[in-house]
Amino acid sequence: MADFMIPTDFGLSEEQKMMIDMLKKFKEKECPKDKIGEWDEANHFPVEVWKKLGNEGILGACFPEEYGGTGGNIIDETLITEEISNSFSAMGLAYLTGVCFGGMSILHYGTDEQKQNYLPKLIAGDWNFALSLTEPGGGTDVLGALKTRAVEQPDGTFLANGAKIFTTGIHVANTDILICRTDDVEGKPARGLTIFLIDRDNIGRQETDGDLLNQPFSQGITYHKIKKLGSHILASFEVSFEDVKLTQDQMLGERGKGFYNLLTTLNNERIVCSAICVGLAQGCLEEANQYALEREAFGKPIGQFQAIQHQLVEMATEIELSRLITYKAAWMQANNPTDPNVGVIASMAKMYTSDAAFRCTDKAMRILAGYGFTMEYHIQRYYRDIRQLVFAPITNEMSKNYIGQVMLGQKKSY
Ligand SMILES: Cc1cc2nc3c(=O)[nH]c(=O)nc-3n(C[C@H](O)[C@H](O)[C@H](O)COP(=O)(O)OP(=O)(O)OC[C@H]3O[C@@H](n4cnc5c(N)ncnc54)[C@H](O)[C@@H]3O)c2cc1C
Repeated sequence: MADFMIPTDFGLSEEQKMMIDMLKKFKEKECPKDKIGEWDEANHFPVEVWKKLGNEGILGACFPEEYGGTGGNIIDETLITEEISNSFSAMGLAYLTGVCFGGMSILHYGTDEQKQNYLPKLIAGDWNFALSLTEPGGGTDVLGALKTRAVEQPDGTFLANGAKIFTTGIHVANTDILICRTDDVEGKPARGLTIFLIDRDNIGRQETDGDLLNQPFSQGITYHKIKKLGSHILASFEVSFEDVKLTQDQMLGERGKGFYNLLTTLNNERIVCSAICVGLAQGCLEEANQYALEREAFGKPIGQFQAIQHQLVEMATEIELSRLITYKAAWMQANNPTDPNVGVIASMAKMYTSDAAFRCTDKAMRILAGYGFTMEYHIQRYYRDIRQLVFAPITNEMSKNYIGQVMLGQKKSY
């Protein structure tokens, strides 16, 4: 019970248990909480930690051995993300974009050449991805808002123009994944989207200590940092594309099928997002519980007051439920990925865990009271960082719409 977590035998392998133990030690050594606080204040993403995660085999846990991975699956991704996000949710987000979105998309629908080119570098921690999907016109109605267009030229190349928003981590990414329109199919906005892989030109992040805040990404692509409330370690950007030249071999998946390809990795993305929430909430509980044991009022530890104890218990219970639904979704996705119920449980998990973690950060803030509000303590970071997860990568309202339609057979409301 030392970790405030009720052990349950989910049938994890010895390797998986060893991986979690190794990650705990890794975090203590390479990214202690005070260091994370400093990076957060400096808006700095530590690329050296990413590289070391690669060295330790963490980034390759869910990829086949032929690319340098160890052949695991979504359960490994879930365990890794939960453990990292316990103190370092921004790194959990980097893992979500780099491994679960970038790497997994290439694995699922990339060409052999793309897999050979990108996966070993990602797995080694030498590469990372950013995702340019959302546009200023809206993220929920993503098809309605998407205006970025790549127009085919007589020589078979494409010229892309448009604007994206919230592209996260592009300053430390080597490849931006652009989703844009190449074709119009009357009355079918989901058709005609194409995904392109755009590599950074000339300058590699290794040459600049990783931080390329003021560097253009490549010919025609510029980006500007968005000031935001949380996840300062992993900055987000407005990105503009002006006459960006793209070739056929930069296409990821088939032309015009981009939206359907995105759906392939959607369940994974939701499950890993849930794992970030579970980890973050658990970290919050550990901080708040320790504080309640040490902080005194009226001559006794505040944890002795039921008002405080009960809040801690409510947090612990919500986290247990969050973990259960997340592991259930991961287990279903690993064992029967074509089961349509996986989409429902993955959406439920994302919705429930983000709201539960949100409530946990609020309770922890109340327990730490004044000190929780100071930048010296870590709770303020958890409190800020969780906010985005209730509406990104998908809003909880949209998750409810999906569950209402698919599970309960209700009519589409929009
Ligand atoms: C920090 C951060 C990082 C991000 N990183 C990335 C990234 O790396 N790449 C990327 O492409 N995008 C990224 N995003 C974008 C993110 O995916 C969108 O913010 C998200 O999809 C919501 O879109 P929106 O913010 O435009 O909200 P809107 O779509 O404008 O929605 C506003 C509100 O209306 C509600 N709403 C809309 N339609 C309905 C409906 N039919 N039923 C019920 N409610 C509805 C929504 O639920 C929400 O509450 C990021 C966002 C943030 C904040």
